[in-house]
Amino acid sequence: MAVILTFFVAHWILSVFFQSFFQHRYAAHRMYTMGPRTEKVLHLLTYLVQGASYLSPRGYAILHREHHAFSDT
Ligand SMILES: [Zn+2]
Repeated sequence: MAVILTFFVAHWILSVFFQSFFQHRYAAHRMYTMGPRTEKVLHLLTYLVQGASYLSPRGYAILHREHHAFSDT
């Protein structure tokens, strides 16, 4: 039981982290830059961690910029 709970809690925390750090701040808002190798590693980790809820960073960025276009006015 502890293994299952640990798995789901880790999945949840890591999904939130990669959602915020990679998808939102990096892909959608370009808040910082990184080298191509680092970007590929983080992209792969995002894909692995988010599982079925994974959305490509490009798709996420497009949708999120649409969100800001309407929510910020
Ligand atoms: Zn945003």
